[in-house]
Amino acid sequence: MSSEGSPEAARPSNFIRDIIIQDIQDGKHGGRVHTRFPPEPNGYLHIGHAKSICLNFGLAREFNGKCNLRFDDTNPAKEETEYVESIMEDVRWMGFEWDALFYASDYFDQLYDWAIQLIKDGKAYVCDLTPEQVRATRGTTTEPGTPSPYRDRSVEENLDLFQRMRAGEFPDGSRTLRTKIDMASPNFNMRDPVMYRILHAEHHRTGDKWCIYPMYDYTHGESDSIEGITHSICTLEFEDHRPLYDWYVENLGIHHPQQIEFDRLNLTNTLLSKRKLLLLVQKGYVTGWDDPRMPTLSGMRRRGYTPEAIRNFCANIGVSKTNGVIEFGLLEHFLREDLNKRALRAMAVLDPLKVVITNYPDDLVEHLEAVNNPEDESAGVRTVPFSKVIYIEQDDFREVPPKKYYRLSPGTEVRLRYAYFIKCTDVIKNEAGEVVEVHCTYDPASRGGNSPDGRKVKSTIHWVSAPHAVDCEARLYDQLMLETTGEESADADFTSQLNPESLVIPPQAKVEPSVAAAAPGTKYQFERVGYFCVDKVSTPERPVFNRTVKLRDSWAKIDKAQNG
Ligand code: ATP
Ligand code: MG
Repeated sequence: MSSEGSPEAARPSNFIRDIIIQDIQDGKHGGRVHTRFPPEPNGYLHIGHAKSICLNFGLAREFNGKCNLRFDDTNPAKEETEYVESIMEDVRWMGFEWDALFYASDYFDQLYDWAIQLIKDGKAYVCDLTPEQVRATRGTTTEPGTPSPYRDRSVEENLDLFQRMRAGEFPDGSRTLRTKIDMASPNFNMRDPVMYRILHAEHHRTGDKWCIYPMYDYTHGESDSIEGITHSICTLEFEDHRPLYDWYVENLGIHHPQQIEFDRLNLTNTLLSKRKLLLLVQKGYVTGWDDPRMPTLSGMRRRGYTPEAIRNFCANIGVSKTNGVIEFGLLEHFLREDLNKRALRAMAVLDPLKVVITNYPDDLVEHLEAVNNPEDESAGVRTVPFSKVIYIEQDDFREVPPKKYYRLSPGTEVRLRYAYFIKCTDVIKNEAGEVVEVHCTYDPASRGGNSPDGRKVKSTIHWVSAPHAVDCEARLYDQLMLETTGEESADADFTSQLNPESLVIPPQAKVEPSVAAAAPGTKYQFERVGYFCVDKVSTPERPVFNRTVKLRDSWAKIDKAQNG
């Protein structure tokens, strides 16, 4: 893993790039590079799609080519305009703009005409078998399939039946149009695949114009061809479909794009299947597609991810020809690297303990200078109010400190970030014996946190001024899924693998006043606590922050400890 400089600049080579470079050298497609990103609008985009977006748009950008956005909308039942809009927003958020926008449904007339052409050429036929019968006669890996009894219908009869299919004469599922290829092919996809099915369903764009819909395989290559795509990049599960992709464009005698397959992204503890993500939304396990725990781009955006972090991650993982599972921690590494550069620093106390500074004047309020981002001088400085009563984290105080505990305890002195040295003099307890308040004295000569006489303190802790701090809701997110082995092992009952602690909200969190009115999306590093992002429901009276990522990775270690 390389974390030096910008991984985007030092983009590692990959085999798809190498193919494109060779094609340009050979003058294939006249040296043109034209890719496309073809989502089905049946859900929101997720981090897996980001890999495909970075590849398709990234390669086009690198080679002065073009990249289209094409909605692969051949399945009317599951598609919605809401998804179309979210996909466009997410692609743009990732930092890309398409050269042209298309819908596969734009090609329904052309695809229909081509189907007629294939029928006339004796290469397609109307089949009256039910979907179950088609499946049952496909054969096995060792046995060829059984030819349909309708395979040898005359061209005239096929043309008549297909036109009547289109006219709506037949019920759903009663007939299909099939390609006449080879029922004995070792590749199942070549055993007379279905081209059209009957489906009386309203389409999000074509309405009720059609009651027959083309299948994915019949649609995809031709759509690529119509758009003049040169390199049709898709995931590995389509490798076995490539012969069929090639068959259609060759037999129609149209422009022949090259299909190239790469490995799907799988991430530990992460579901990357739109079907499963839709279930989480529908069954209310999450608050919506943009729940900050979702691996959707809209969820990650709301959580505080940056497109730069995602692009750097995608550039770093590259592409290959074998599917694997990437550690989620790698994505978080690129996230922290980016947030460290851009997040404003601020102070928040998630689990407050009251500290009274007994020798500080009762009514005095000082406004102490604090640095907004040590990584970025242009972010400037702000002031933070300081007063006699402050809050620190419970965790930063121990009445009986264990060995090597250097934070506040009776008799020890620590630095309050940007403020003063304080020394603990007294501990106030309730009837149950719990510490409810800590008394300290401060050294006025240590203002700004500087040692007045070269005296050293071993730790610096964060704090907020009690009368000035703003109560906030800090939403602490963790992995949504406990399952660590990625997608495949998350079976039908994947909801049993949901992490019950994927969202924890500490009841009394407080932030310094400067951040209370920040706009949704503003990114902070709450010093020593973690990276946070202002949520869309935040108000100045009740600020809401999403924890984007912890300062360090604790998940890998915990997981190892739990699983031995
Ligand atoms: P799902 O099974 O989640 O619905 P999909 O592949 O059917 O995913 P599409 O909308 O068809 O989703 O995907 C659009 C593009 O994004 C395709 O080219 C697809 O190969 C790619 N893509 C989808 N998921 C991943 C992934 N996990 N890794 C890489 N590319 C992906
Ligand atoms: Mg798909």
